[in-house]
Amino acid sequence: MTRSGWSSADVAASGRRPRLARLCRRSGLLPLAGRLRGLFREDVRILAYHRVLDSADPEGFSFDVDLISASADAFREQMKLAKRRFQPMRFDELADCLDRGRRPPPRALLVSFDDGYDDNHRIAFPILSELGLSAMFFVCTDHIGSGMPYAYDWLVHMLCSTGVERLEVPELGLHMPLPQDLAGRRAIARTALDRIKTLDAVAQEALIARLEREWQLPRTQGHPLCRPMSWADLREMQRGGMEIGSHGIGHRMLAKLPPAEMRREVAGSREALERELGERVDVISYPVGGPDAYDEDVMRATRQAGYRLACSYRAGTDAATSATRYDMRRLPIERQMDASWFEAMMALPEAFSYRSRYRNR
Ligand SMILES: [Zn+2]
Repeated sequence: MTRSGWSSADVAASGRRPRLARLCRRSGLLPLAGRLRGLFREDVRILAYHRVLDSADPEGFSFDVDLISASADAFREQMKLAKRRFQPMRFDELADCLDRGRRPPPRALLVSFDDGYDDNHRIAFPILSELGLSAMFFVCTDHIGSGMPYAYDWLVHMLCSTGVERLEVPELGLHMPLPQDLAGRRAIARTALDRIKTLDAVAQEALIARLEREWQLPRTQGHPLCRPMSWADLREMQRGGMEIGSHGIGHRMLAKLPPAEMRREVAGSREALERELGERVDVISYPVGGPDAYDEDVMRATRQAGYRLACSYRAGTDAATSATRYDMRRLPIERQMDASWFEAMMALPEAFSYRSRYRNR
């Protein structure tokens, strides 16, 4: 297929907030503004990444481009700034603070990754090691070592590469000719992702399986640009000071599952990780993580399964209290964030954190 319509302009930071961020950074006042904010807010910043690739703008990329959080170079710069201005800590240290009723240190910062793409091991892990930082990697146990792309990613890939001329997906209300250009197909894929996440988890899986069959694009064929990490990768990262957490068994929206299935995802993923990695697993991040992906029942099951902390994908800093420990907010990092935007977001998250209808995977 053609690649027309796909240019670096797609990742340029445009809009009011990035412009304001550039102005703030040029003024030199961001460090001071951040310190002033710290006098009034005792909160914790948990950064949420998905993928770090050599380029934030890979040519002809047919997977979910919105899950590229940063290029390798941008990630290194972000981590340097985080280390310079904030107090990096691990999730087990944060859980210890909460257990003992102590406040985390001022300007506490944690780094997390969702899903478990192999670029986390290939690209992010060496950068974190080089800088002496730790991060938490939330992984789906059924995906580890399977070589299979994730279901939502595969849906995007199918929409970007299928040879069919017309899209007929009544489950998602999509009836239209498929454009030939990648940008046009990406726009349709975003709509499809938004809509599929409103279905229950079983219906989501059935729909993706149907398209795999009808378009003869089985997910089992795998793809070099969308692979999960292996158990060996995770063990190496664990030995290198990284933390491993659960992201469920099969990346299913927990609040959209029957209760027994939901509890199996929560407890079973923890058991599998502890069995394979030989260490306690104390933290989970709810798959998709938006308001419709977890609820009181999910949080109760998480506590009962023995987790000490749980992260959502709702944007914001976390108060780090016993009331929020199973509902911790994070700051999503997106490839559109240039250095100014990142710096402004770190100093003043209320004004500059990334929000979008789409970003709640
Ligand atoms: Zn996820």
